[in-house]
Amino acid sequence: MKPIPFLDLGCLNQSIRESLDAACRRVMDSGWFIMGPELEAFEAEFAQYCDVKHCIGVGNGLEALHLLLRAYDIGPGDEVIVPSNTFIATWLAVSECGATPIPVEPNVDTHNIDPALIASAVTSRTRAIIPVHLYGQPADMDPINALAAKLGLIVIEDAAQAQGSRYKGRSAGSLGHSAATSFYPGKNLGALGDGGAVLTSDDAIANKVRQLRNYGSTVKYKHDLAGYNSRLDEMQAAFLRAKLVVLDEWNVRRREIATQYSDLLVDAGIILPFVPEYVDPVWHLYVIRSKRRDTLKAHLEQQGISTVIHYPIPPHRQACYQDFQGHHLPIAEMLAEEILSLPISPVMSVNEVEFVARAMETSYAK
Ligand SMILES: *Cc1c(COP(=O)(O)O)cnc(C)c1O
Repeated sequence: MKPIPFLDLGCLNQSIRESLDAACRRVMDSGWFIMGPELEAFEAEFAQYCDVKHCIGVGNGLEALHLLLRAYDIGPGDEVIVPSNTFIATWLAVSECGATPIPVEPNVDTHNIDPALIASAVTSRTRAIIPVHLYGQPADMDPINALAAKLGLIVIEDAAQAQGSRYKGRSAGSLGHSAATSFYPGKNLGALGDGGAVLTSDDAIANKVRQLRNYGSTVKYKHDLAGYNSRLDEMQAAFLRAKLVVLDEWNVRRREIATQYSDLLVDAGIILPFVPEYVDPVWHLYVIRSKRRDTLKAHLEQQGISTVIHYPIPPHRQACYQDFQGHHLPIAEMLAEEILSLPISPVMSVNEVEFVARAMETSYAK
């Protein structure tokens, strides 16, 4: 068997090479590269796909979160509830606007923020909650929204890993007040470079984010807000339009792979991903747990199988968050020790999945 990469982006993009080439040619021929027809079309298409009124293309996922927090006037002195186990961008967006991230531990089965633990983390300074739909599986949004409504808090979804997933039939990105997403190349809907978007059905927030991403300007050379330069460029928007066409098909393939893994690995001595009945995940990652994770990872590596840990160090243990070094967040810390993401991508074959599963079993037998 050939080595199995964690995610073969070259091969994935090659599978739709013609439509990506056509997108590139369209932009080249138009001679228009920033804030043009491709962005406008992509925004309309992706807003419709996510069942929201507005999609605003921005520079990346971190900026999508940051511009949203600014649009809600969240800043110094404010607190924002974030999951203790997430990619650090969720925390950094809060820090970047001068507010304080307040971590809440996950449910140990879903790895997503535990709604039951949020209320006790809320103070008089709390302004917002950012649930993350980790690994492509929506967080349990109904109790989060109910609590937020009761306490007057904003709910901003971090939907960077969840494009196309559903919660009780509703699209990720349409479940809170607003959402941020990322088109980093490895995401389910990935550009060929950096990109991100804000999703919302709130007209005022949409207008403010549009203004903030473009130097705080709505009329050229008139700047009412101290804004940023954070725009999704025409080339990436055109690539994303081509990829949006195949997103559902690709997500179906990811689901098949996840099902195949879960069938083959029932007796492998590891903890398999848990899927509550109310979600329809898109398997951005297939994450298992094992007490002997490092041995397992090394064993797979020896057989040419690449795996990744998402994420090896929780945000509160990062050097950039000195203030949190004393914090003990046992579930996030335990997960960081035990989790392992197996290869998954729409271009993985049935044989490759089988090969990985067999390698997992022989590792357990040893
Ligand atoms: C990828 C990711 C981001 C950040 O996206 P970038 O485009 O890389 O800035 C934010 N949150 C989560 C959960 C992510 O996975």
